[in-house]
Amino acid sequence: MTVPFQVNLKDKVAVVTGGGGVLCSIMAEAIAECGAKVAILDLKKDAADAVAAKITAAGGTAMGVFCNVLEKESIAAAHKLIAETYGECDILVNGAGGNNPKGTTDGEVMSKADLAADCQAKTFFSLDPKGIEFVFNLNFLSAMLVSQEFTRAMAERGKGVILNVSSMNAFRPLTKIPAYSAAKAAVSNFTQWLAVHMAPMGIRVNAIAPGFFLTNQNRALLTNPDGSLTPRSHKILNGTPMGKFGKPEDLLGAMLWLLSEEGAGFVTGTVIPIDGGFSAYSGV
Ligand code: NAD
Repeated sequence: MTVPFQVNLKDKVAVVTGGGGVLCSIMAEAIAECGAKVAILDLKKDAADAVAAKITAAGGTAMGVFCNVLEKESIAAAHKLIAETYGECDILVNGAGGNNPKGTTDGEVMSKADLAADCQAKTFFSLDPKGIEFVFNLNFLSAMLVSQEFTRAMAERGKGVILNVSSMNAFRPLTKIPAYSAAKAAVSNFTQWLAVHMAPMGIRVNAIAPGFFLTNQNRALLTNPDGSLTPRSHKILNGTPMGKFGKPEDLLGAMLWLLSEEGAGFVTGTVIPIDGGFSAYSGV
């Protein structure tokens, strides 16, 4: 992996949650390539370790750390380990997130069949509050809890930068996924709130809002078992002026710019769409 351009993150300590996943692993690699020591936090320790090993093999400095971003004690334990090993965090990427089938409806819009007492489909009426809560916690609450843990030391030192990972569905909700859409809207809103709250302490807070990237999280929605595109994928591509899915590498330029003091030192409270124009296009 080669970064699109270098920014100076030398001797910085970066923490990337969800760093074992598809998008955040490549983000962690890019941050390491720009000189930071990177702690890769993930519920899947093996995945975090594999990303750390890749970075180390490429000459960077990284470690995998087990962390459940939904549990304060687990976040605190990860923080302690990172501080002892690398020092306090300068750069926090709140990347852990995702959807859950329990927060997803089968149909794009309601039909009369949804009203039948014996309806077997997952409808608006049968959405499980626990599923909705899970999605909200994984995307929104996690960003808040992890930020609470790492920003105290940033505030004490009067510097730091946070990057949240929202989604283009925060601008306009996508059909079928009300919980994920609303949770990412909360992430965008929280990004602005935290940017304002932390500004006097020298901490910048921004977000990227990726569009459609074909990853494990959405593979079942976007491809058929034989790998061909689903009708939903065709709809997405028709709604994307650039006519294609994003590649994880497409996130790196905006991410590195937002993380660098030289480039984005006066930028805070922004949510940058990286979506091939999807969120700008009305469809007409
Ligand atoms: P992914 O599933 O590949 O990665 C998510 C990672 O988070 C996984 O490694 C998973 O183990 C980890 N994780 C899950 N629950 C956790 C927990 N409780 N504690 C710690 N780690 C946990 O997903 P991805 O596609 O790489 O998505 C990364 C981020 O980008 C997410 O916030 C996602 O919502 C967002 N996003 C993705 C897309 C897309 O098209 N893939 C689009 C917009 C936004």
